[in-house]
Amino acid sequence: MEGQNGKQNKKFSLLKIVLLLPLIRFGSVVVAKPRTAKNLQVQKGLPFKIALFADLHFGEDAWTKWGPLQDVHSTKVMSSILDQDKPDFVIYLGDVITANNIPIANASLYWDQALSSAKNRCIPWAIVFGNHDDAQFTWPLEWFSDSGIPPLKCSSDISLSSGEDNCGFMGTTRLQLINHDIGSKTLSFSQKGPKNLWPSVSNYVLKISSSDDSESPVAYLYFLDSGGGSYPEVISSAQAKWFNSTSMEINPDSRVPEIIFWHIPSRAYKTVAPSGEIDKPCVGSINKETVAPQEAEYGIMNALEARSSVQAVFVGHNHGLDWCCPCKKFWLCFARHTGYGGYGNWARGARILEITEQPFSLKSWITMEDGSVHSHVSLKS
Ligand SMILES: [Zn+2]
Repeated sequence: MEGQNGKQNKKFSLLKIVLLLPLIRFGSVVVAKPRTAKNLQVQKGLPFKIALFADLHFGEDAWTKWGPLQDVHSTKVMSSILDQDKPDFVIYLGDVITANNIPIANASLYWDQALSSAKNRCIPWAIVFGNHDDAQFTWPLEWFSDSGIPPLKCSSDISLSSGEDNCGFMGTTRLQLINHDIGSKTLSFSQKGPKNLWPSVSNYVLKISSSDDSESPVAYLYFLDSGGGSYPEVISSAQAKWFNSTSMEINPDSRVPEIIFWHIPSRAYKTVAPSGEIDKPCVGSINKETVAPQEAEYGIMNALEARSSVQAVFVGHNHGLDWCCPCKKFWLCFARHTGYGGYGNWARGARILEITEQPFSLKSWITMEDGSVHSHVSLKS
């Protein structure tokens, strides 16, 4: 694979957003709703909508003519879906960038491009890492032919690299990426999890609170790092224990619904996968691959099964799968390949989640780049 010439990284000004102003983007008026920073709250009488953007793979094949075009197309997909569905929140479900194609320490340029459609609309977001986000740079064989190695331009982002010494081919770590994501943008709800779970970084929980009382939870969103890239594709035993202890602490009686997000499907996905056509009780539109699960399983599925409050798990990784299937007490769902980067030419789209309070419900469907919607499923009614 090839490399990427670093471009000047834009430094974003620090946003202190409490009330957000209307925005005009792409010819249509997008009115951002008032929102208190660092609080995800249902608005009275309205559902809370989340868009899942999976496998964007920004920065892939950036040295070719068509590589950068992929990123332009991916931005268009996200923009049209955000304008159509107007979600309250965006979850980037891993493989935001293709780090193994980015030969500079600072991948933040691509990171910022990938997140720009949500940021430009003042829609808050959270991320989990996939197996490509901190993957090691892979030297393209063709760079050693007559074409040679493209000139390397270093980023000017001093927050990530300390001058020429860091301008090389070593890639950007999970910690650098998440620090960048959290850093200057108050719209980011991403967190780096507890240190004792490292090298697994994106492990945290967010609360969606009730319209009546910002202290009262409607649902908890759990983000778990399923590894890959710089270390094995796995959710560790320590992560499973962290989920157990955290959920027991903040939701001891399992009264509040819990929704789970990570990148690489667990092995349980293989056991529920439809063979051929997607028939009830599964719901979806493409089943074009076999499930590519994590390398090992160290207890997270048992931990989830032990809690009656867990509603569904959402993953990306397999670009040719978009189904939801029930598994014992909850649902296992794929997102929908959103990016033009990454393998496969299946039409691009995004899985949308819709949460209501009183009574709690969790519905989902897929919105495509062309605006069509399909695969409606009620995951909890
Ligand atoms: Zn991917």
